[in-house]
Amino acid sequence: MSDITAFDQLNLSDQLLRAIADQGYIKPTPIQAQVIPHILEGKDIMGSAETGTGKTASFTLPLLHRLQPYENSSTSPAKHPIRALILAPTRELATQIHDNVKKYGKYLQLRSTVIYGGVSIDPQIKELQAGIEVLVATPGRLLDHIEQKTINLSKIAILVLDEADRMLDMGFLPDIKRILMLLSPQRQSLIFSATFSEEIKQLADKLLKQPILIEAAKRNAINQSISHIVHLVEPERKHELLVQLIRQNDLKQVLIFVKTKQGADRLVKQLTRYEVMATAIHGDKNQQQRTQALNDFKEGKIQALVATDVAARGLDIENLAYVINFELPTVPEDYIHRIGRTGRAGSKGNAISLVSVNEKDLLAGIEKLLKTKLTVEKVNGFEVEKSVHAALPQTAGRQRYNGKSPQQKPGLDRHNGSHTAKPQPTVHARNKPSRTIDPIFTQPYVPMALVKKQDATDKITQSIHKSNKKAIPALFVPPVIDKHKQE
Ligand code: AMP
Repeated sequence: MSDITAFDQLNLSDQLLRAIADQGYIKPTPIQAQVIPHILEGKDIMGSAETGTGKTASFTLPLLHRLQPYENSSTSPAKHPIRALILAPTRELATQIHDNVKKYGKYLQLRSTVIYGGVSIDPQIKELQAGIEVLVATPGRLLDHIEQKTINLSKIAILVLDEADRMLDMGFLPDIKRILMLLSPQRQSLIFSATFSEEIKQLADKLLKQPILIEAAKRNAINQSISHIVHLVEPERKHELLVQLIRQNDLKQVLIFVKTKQGADRLVKQLTRYEVMATAIHGDKNQQQRTQALNDFKEGKIQALVATDVAARGLDIENLAYVINFELPTVPEDYIHRIGRTGRAGSKGNAISLVSVNEKDLLAGIEKLLKTKLTVEKVNGFEVEKSVHAALPQTAGRQRYNGKSPQQKPGLDRHNGSHTAKPQPTVHARNKPSRTIDPIFTQPYVPMALVKKQDATDKITQSIHKSNKKAIPALFVPPVIDKHKQE
């Protein structure tokens, strides 16, 4: 574990320290404290970190520091070759990384830009021709530039693959391989990935030289607490329950995940009928629509943003208190990515999943990955048959009521007196939230290694449910590390 507790212990330049101070950051997050010194020394890194941990700054800050000797104010493009390349899976993530590069590099004379598909290539060509030191790109558009010979990658000294697992999931591996062939082998390479599959390990084997392996502490470790709640519900009543939860908790800003683009559009229509201001963000929306949707959501013009997994990857929305899984993700890892949109950088977060019986295997997969059981809470008026509880993975004994009187009738419209099972389209219901925070997610973070020293993890998890005093294993999937590769 790193002893670094302040940014000025990291040997970053004064300009970078000033930019950090402007952001109001008080101390480095665990991943920053661990990663920055190694990157400054020029080491390759294999980092298991996800969005929400301060990961972007952990590579952007030292990357800018290492490029500082190349600062110059010359107008000649030749004086501004691309020296660092950051690859990201989606346009949204690429844009966010570039925003970080600008934020932290504001006192430096280094140029940067971001390139991604779905928009005209011409302005990008112009920017590249003018010369930039730091390039953030999605792999597909970068290849377009390579094919059109509008880019020169020969001077790249630092390569970052961010969210590498997602890039591989999205089928970018062949693109990445083609890009790698054009880079100088004399470069520093950094890979960040939330999870470590066999494919990622193979990529790392090819790409990294004697890498330092860093397991970032989970989001929970940076003063965050996320409460995870499951509501069992009949599939055809999910949207009613969703409306009820939005009203009950007076949610002004909620990110809702669904599995398909069609499902996202359908849900937006249903929510709109109930006067919940909603919009969808998914792959069928063009870049302008996606940016507009995101901006409207950030500015509070839109109450509910309904997203598919790919579209939501990397979204960073400040103070997002609620993420609701309208449908569970098919890939358990996506649950981690989804909930990573809330509880960021120390704020409180709530992850609610609406689960129907046909999703029992998906829930089991997520719980297996998290190595913990999610708390099931019953919502009055949305009770499911006992057989559903029985069908779900080991739910017996862990469901509980959400604090409301059993007499309370379904539907939340107590203010207008209509105790109906269906929530009526209205925006007046303002019931106080009455949620139970599961202590399992407010316990301090304990590295998996420590937990493993005790008996079986299951036993620990069960006992933690009983006692608030014990620490919980972090929701972190430890990578399988090939020790031989380090030598
Ligand atoms: P990331 O994991 O890079 O997506 O960052 C998540 C959020 O944490 C972003 O909003 C960052 O601005 C913020 N952040 C990054 N580093 C720090 C820090 N040291 N202290 C507080 N917030 C931070």
